[in-house]
Amino acid sequence: MTQTGKQTCEFRAEVCKILNILTHSLYTNREIFLRELVSNASDALDKLRFFSNRGGGLTAPDTPLEIRVSIDKDKKLLTIADAGVGMTAEEMAENLGTIAKSGSEEFLVHFDNATPSGVEGDHTDAANIVGRFGIGFYSVFMVADKVEVISRPAFGSDPAAHVWTSGGLGVYTIEPSGSDAPERGTVVKVYIKDDASEFLEKYRVESAIRNHSAFMPFPIFLDGERVNSEPALWLESKFSVKKEQYEAFYKALTYDTKAPLDVLHLSVDAPVQFNALLFIPDNAQDLFGMDRESWGVDLYARRVLIQRRNKDLIPEYLAFFKGVSDTEDLPLNISRETLQENVLLRKINQVIVKQALNHLEKTAKDDPEKYLNFWRLHGKIFKLGYHDFPNRERVSALLRFNSSALEDGEALVSLDEYMARAPEGQKTFWYVSAPNREAVLLNPHTERFRKKGIEVLYLYEPVDEFVMEGLGKYREWDFKPAENVADDALSAFEDKKDQKKFAEVSELSDEDKGDFDKLLARMKEILGDKVKYVRVSRRLEDSPSVLVSSPDGAITSSMEKLIKVMQKDDSLSVKILEVNQAHPMLRGMLRIFKADPQDNLLTLMTQGLFDASLLLDGFVKDPQALASRMNSLLTETAAIYTAD
Ligand code: ADP
Ligand code: MG
Repeated sequence: MTQTGKQTCEFRAEVCKILNILTHSLYTNREIFLRELVSNASDALDKLRFFSNRGGGLTAPDTPLEIRVSIDKDKKLLTIADAGVGMTAEEMAENLGTIAKSGSEEFLVHFDNATPSGVEGDHTDAANIVGRFGIGFYSVFMVADKVEVISRPAFGSDPAAHVWTSGGLGVYTIEPSGSDAPERGTVVKVYIKDDASEFLEKYRVESAIRNHSAFMPFPIFLDGERVNSEPALWLESKFSVKKEQYEAFYKALTYDTKAPLDVLHLSVDAPVQFNALLFIPDNAQDLFGMDRESWGVDLYARRVLIQRRNKDLIPEYLAFFKGVSDTEDLPLNISRETLQENVLLRKINQVIVKQALNHLEKTAKDDPEKYLNFWRLHGKIFKLGYHDFPNRERVSALLRFNSSALEDGEALVSLDEYMARAPEGQKTFWYVSAPNREAVLLNPHTERFRKKGIEVLYLYEPVDEFVMEGLGKYREWDFKPAENVADDALSAFEDKKDQKKFAEVSELSDEDKGDFDKLLARMKEILGDKVKYVRVSRRLEDSPSVLVSSPDGAITSSMEKLIKVMQKDDSLSVKILEVNQAHPMLRGMLRIFKADPQDNLLTLMTQGLFDASLLLDGFVKDPQALASRMNSLLTETAAIYTAD
């Protein structure tokens, strides 16, 4: 579209807020605006190369694919020019006037909650903020008081050039460009603010480009001098590449400041030809939250970038890998839509999975410490491999859990180790879900197992239960939740000397049994709709009470929590309260009930019992109300001793 005249537009509200923060709050690492502009230039060249491979008339076809940076100190001007795809006037309004919604919302929430010396790192550090929230182009306003983007589209019948101008303060204008427009592509003119004049120094700009953009696949010139070298490290022989080269490549690719934990360098000829460099980062990623979409492997065909973060090259459970894959076998003019059905990518995917599993197995065997380190960072994602049916056995062998047999919450056990030390006759992996080890130690469901010396796997993440249920079996052993087990299933392991703790008191007279039933009815009356009913438990030894799911037992607590989190539902499903008839507390309650069924202390104790059971299950919905009930109970108890 050719636009005549000048058009003034307002930035969307969230853009204004972000611009305001960018210009006023970020002080360290402002140089990353250069990385963003250079990477946009490189993306534009990539797109151009990609589309011109598919045919179509190209504007100024002889202009080389380069990025040119220049400094004009007198005009306080830094210019970044590329001969890439360029933008029409409409595209400029769309791309430079709005911001990806999801990222901007998270960014603003983050900033609202941020304290000046925030726990999550330095909030004034631009590298932290800009990289994390995909702010990209706007970061230029950290150093500029005015920016002009002059762009001429590379394709189309009417490649008129337009200029987008903004001071970063709420409005921008778009108008037809004058004589300074490029033949093709985009020129970004950055008018440097007084407090950012360092970016008018050649050495400063050069070091920033070398730091952040060394591996750009196009030549970058600064005032006419080439500042980057040709990359494609993945095509080198892995025996010739040095550790430092891998590290530098990784850092340039991911913007990570830490060296990677590990690297996989693959050169494969059959069944499909490809080279790949796959890194395991040395920090955990939030692939279930913030970074949900940011996984995948960059797909190249003969060194031409076809797609960033392609998600067909690796399965989701290997999403922690960052890297590139380059194949000779893919036509350059492939459309992004047909990429998805491409058999070739599936084949590459299969080889990558095989190689990755080989690598992890080898690490687990040769360097267990390193493997555990990997597991703590990425186990959360890797676990999802239970979906991978053909590789299920291999994935299972690589799983690690905390368990009752381990010293502390950090130690981990594999399923094979668990199996090796299980008592004769055991054919089941028992597990229990809890938010953490402290909670699990109080969990009444595991009591019986601990007493019999049977190891129980501790699942701290809701997804673990899906993993166990998804796996079903590992080498003929079942997975079963400890809480759904009837006592007789454990009888084979019964230690005959291990008497029930409250055995001496557990027999009630017939009359008391009748009263106890009435007590249960009274407790249900007190708790009302919070429980389905209250009944005597056959599974408790030390604990006074436990909450159990509906009798069919289909859904366990952490599964339920997961579903609720996904549905943003914070209600509780109604459960059954089971009480330990032999426990001194219940015996006390029976005495109180017999004296006066309406005694307020009984009401408070019943509520307290229920609250404690909820806590053990990890549901704390209303801590204020809970604390207030507890205080009432304590007050009432104190009153007994201070009366008269
Ligand atoms: P991102 O690069 O993550 O998409 P940016 O904020 O860096 O986000 O850029 C926004 C958009 O503006 C880009 O997606 C692209 O469409 C467009 N753009 C920015 N710079 C250029 C350029 N030099 N050439 C062509 N398009 C560009
Ligand atoms: Mg960008």
